[in-house]
Parts: sequence; C-alpha cells; structure tokens
Amino acid sequence: MSDKASHDGDGAQTRLVEGRNCGTCTVCCVALTIDDPELKKVQGYRCQHLKPGQGCSIYPTRPHSCRTFYCGWRLLKWVRESLRPDRSGVLVKLDGEIDPDGTERLGVSITLLNRAALKADGLAETVAAAIAARVPVFLSIPGPPGYTAAQAKLNAHLEPAVARKDKAEVLRLLAQAQRQGRRGERSRIVLQGQASSGPDRPRGAAIGPRRPVC
Ligand code: SF4
Ligand code: SF4
Repeated sequence: MSDKASHDGDGAQTRLVEGRNCGTCTVCCVALTIDDPELKKVQGYRCQHLKPGQGCSIYPTRPHSCRTFYCGWRLLKWVRESLRPDRSGVLVKLDGEIDPDGTERLGVSITLLNRAALKADGLAETVAAAIAARVPVFLSIPGPPGYTAAQAKLNAHLEPAVARKDKAEVLRLLAQAQRQGRRGERSRIVLQGQASSGPDRPRGAAIGPRRPVC
C-alpha cells in the first residue's frame, strides 16, 4: 500500500478537504494513543504495524479506529494548508467540551509535537480563525512517550490579541503556553485492561485529565 492509503481509502464516507491527502505523513500512527480492542498503543510510540517507507502493513484489516480517524488538517478547510502534520509538527484534532448546561460543543485540540512547531507557517492564523469563530481551542503539549499531555483551553487567553489581529501577541502567548506545558506534570497513560505497578502507578484514566498550561 502507499503510505496512509488507509485513510485516503475511506475518505468517500467522510467529508474531507479537497486536494489534501496523507501522502507520506504517518504522524497519527505515532503521536496518538489508540485504545481499540484490536490495537493498543500509547502516544509517542510508533504503531507496531507501521513499516518505514511502506506505511501501514495491515492496511486491509486495520482497526476500526484507524479506518475512521482523520486529523483536522484533512477535515477542516480553515486549518491552513501549510499545517500538514509531518511538515509542520502541528497536529489538529477534533475535540470538544461539555458546557455547564450539559451541551456538548465541538472544538479542536492543537498538539505542538516539537519545539519547532511553534514556528510553523499558518499556526497563528489557524488558531486565530478558530478563536474568532468561538470554536473551543485546546493546546496540547505531549509528555514523553507513554505519558499524558499538558492541555489547556486557549480561548479566553487569546481572544483580546485575536480581536486586535495582533499576530505577534498570539505567538507570544502560544510560546508561553508551550513553555509552561513542557514543564507540566505528567502521568503514565494506562489503556483498558493494562495492569499497573511500581512507582509510575497510573491514576486510572486511559488518557489523563486536562492539565493547566497557562
Ligand atoms: S496525521 Fe492527518 S495527514 Fe497525517 S496521516 Fe494522520 S490523518 Fe493523514
Ligand atoms: S494499524 Fe496501521 S493505520 Fe493503524 S496506527 Fe497502525 S500503522 Fe497506523
């Protein structure tokens, strides 16, 4: 199979941004925690089925989670073209929150996969577009492989700068959040059915709670 044809193959059932293909990107096969009955892996580790230069080696029988996942770059036109995850270090995913009245609101989480991601062309514009549209935006800074990410909602922090169209301030606040997120507390990710022991005994959740970044 060609790299990531797994995702492209099911695109007909999902509304995807025209002209964007996974190509050689395999970021989601490494960066995501997958807790599927057929496949379990934690963030930061390559999937055992991902073969260098070949993509997914079990393409015809890949798990349901893999068949149905698309990152925000594939799904959302307002995510800048320049933010293909493997080229930018920025992984946008659909996310959400529950309002106090119980209403679920769709949002996005933006994972900065490395320090350089902050300099990705189009990052500030993409974040600003979401905040201007009042879409909940969560910044996620991954921990070491196997550990939770530091996460925080950005909207209230960035709204004034976005309203002033102050790109430099948006980037300054993102940098500040990235620094704080890198120092954030982590806990080991535990998947369903995994035993835990020792000093890194996890705290129960498959994916840790949101932790404040700023
Ligand atoms: S991260 Fe996005 S672009 Fe990259 S392989 Fe996954 S779905 Fe495709
Ligand atoms: S099974 Fe295939 S598509 Fe799913 S994470 Fe592994 S390499 Fe990627």
